[in-house]
Amino acid sequence: MLPMNASALDLLQSVFGYSSFRGQQQAVVEHLSEGGDALVLMPTGGGKSLCYQIPALLRQGTGIVVSPLIALMQDQVDALREAGVAAAYLNSSLGAEEQREVERQLLAGELNLLYVAPERLLTGRFLGQLERTEVALFAIDEAHCVSQWGHDFRPEYRELAILQQRFPQVPRIALTATADQRTREEIVERLSLQDARQFVSSFDRPNIGYRVGLRHNAKRQLGEFLQGHQGESGIVYCLSRRKVDDTAAWLAESGIEALPYHAGLDAATRAKNQQRFLREDGVVMVATVAFGMGIDKPDVRFVAHLDLPRSIEGYYQETGRAGRDGLPAEAWMIYGLSDVVTMSQMIAQSESADERKRVERQKLESLLAYAEATDCRRQLLLGAFGEIYPGPCGHCDNCVAPPKTWDATVPAQKALSAVYRTGQRFGSGHVIDVLRGEETERVLSLDHHRLSTFGIGAEMDEKQWRSVFRQLLAAGLLEADAEGYGTLRLTAASRGVLSGGKPVKLREDARPERASRRRRDSKLVTGGGSLGIEAYEQELWDALRALRTQLAKQQGVPPYVVFHDATLLAMLRAMPANEDELATISGVGEAKLKRYGSDFLAVINAPA
Ligand code: ADP
Ligand code: ZN
Repeated sequence: MLPMNASALDLLQSVFGYSSFRGQQQAVVEHLSEGGDALVLMPTGGGKSLCYQIPALLRQGTGIVVSPLIALMQDQVDALREAGVAAAYLNSSLGAEEQREVERQLLAGELNLLYVAPERLLTGRFLGQLERTEVALFAIDEAHCVSQWGHDFRPEYRELAILQQRFPQVPRIALTATADQRTREEIVERLSLQDARQFVSSFDRPNIGYRVGLRHNAKRQLGEFLQGHQGESGIVYCLSRRKVDDTAAWLAESGIEALPYHAGLDAATRAKNQQRFLREDGVVMVATVAFGMGIDKPDVRFVAHLDLPRSIEGYYQETGRAGRDGLPAEAWMIYGLSDVVTMSQMIAQSESADERKRVERQKLESLLAYAEATDCRRQLLLGAFGEIYPGPCGHCDNCVAPPKTWDATVPAQKALSAVYRTGQRFGSGHVIDVLRGEETERVLSLDHHRLSTFGIGAEMDEKQWRSVFRQLLAAGLLEADAEGYGTLRLTAASRGVLSGGKPVKLREDARPERASRRRRDSKLVTGGGSLGIEAYEQELWDALRALRTQLAKQQGVPPYVVFHDATLLAMLRAMPANEDELATISGVGEAKLKRYGSDFLAVINAPA
């Protein structure tokens, strides 16, 4: 079926329908095809799959792909089969009969690619079968699962080093979208990849725009945000299950296709909601972080956070689920002072060892620095992974509308000394009362109206003070107590401000005033949603999507397995008149052209 002696580029074009390689893909493909080992670090959406799929087609034998994400295997195999590749998977979801058939195909050398779960790969039986067939390569996807520091630790991954001992002549490629250095080192060590060539891409996701704001009224703010994303798929993350249920119900009442997802729902409901998110256009998933791992949906147009995520890595991963297809997408977050306090408490109260807590605290601090940033967010985000981004990016809120800052050295000194004078035993509410000279019952009963700091901050209102306290916490100039009462304490860094006169620059919290918001939105989100569909194009766009859904339903696959949005968008803009023209569109390979060409041409060229 595949042309003999095809080159990598031929395969890219004829099988996958893409005109050229992206980034480091070609270098990886060449290295692997020649038998070298590789470690590939590429962001989500960077195009990791082709790095092993094409070499597997070029080399003799079957490419074995190890993946922990059983739920994803079927979609990946469906997508490959749609493109005319002989692909199969082996995991616990198959019946005995089906498994035997796949094993037969493997032993008969009929498969180009076989996806397996790690626990299956490691069985003596399967390893024995592999020894009796020709293996083109081993691809170890989601390689960060070997890391016990990460969230996705899989003990079986650590045993994969056995592949090198049993199949020393077979090239291996490990792939991950995890950017941090510690994980990278662990992958090399645990998978015996010391001699592998490393291909490290930039972790920038240029098609994602970043926006962070203060939470005033979460529902209203979310509602306004969603107006720029009508009919689009997206994920809304919340910290608690209750907030997920509440938000999903509220959105559904407002006429938005919103579904909840969290670990408290029964498995059937979770599976059903996930399936709808994957298979229908324009579903909004409201979820806790329980949702997302292994979600490969390419056309998620936005990820919204209604609470602070756990860490900057978590934020990067969660927002990274937007825009895998490379089309414009948006990462939007709102948060408040209470989040900062809750997060510090969660870390302090966790059962982790002290070293782990210290790491988590650092991670939270870099997330807060990101949230409170006054400069380019992309620069900070990538900087957290040790990447130097030249910036400014021009595609984050701070670049589009630089926030105003003010010299808050004196108020900061007043705030810190009020915390100190009241004995470092109170939350921000009481300390602000003292600063503002409020004679509350509590102030009076504690004799705090006699303190030297009583009333020294009367010139600012409560809201302004809350903004100062939030930013002092975020900057590590104050810390919340471990016990969970929201009590504030000074930190080692406070001294520099209190006695050293170290200047403190804070951002002026923007008021939720309409004019400025609209101005910002207009640059980040164009009219016609993220993809900029013009009004006159809408009808054809809807028709193309409807046809895609119909074809996908007939085959029992998600719509994006038929064609990605990027491909439909290219059709919309190019209006191909015949098969030759359609074949030039990115994402239209030979197999799909044959299967779907006439249907799409009929819709595109239907008389108006
Ligand atoms: P990752 O696994 O790195 O997240 P994928 O392999 O799923 O990324 O690829 C992301 C998207 O980019 C997919 O829609 C894929 O079809 C597309 N893609 C990959 N390589 C190319 C290319 N060279 N040209 C055009 N599109 C590509
Ligand atoms: Zn920027």
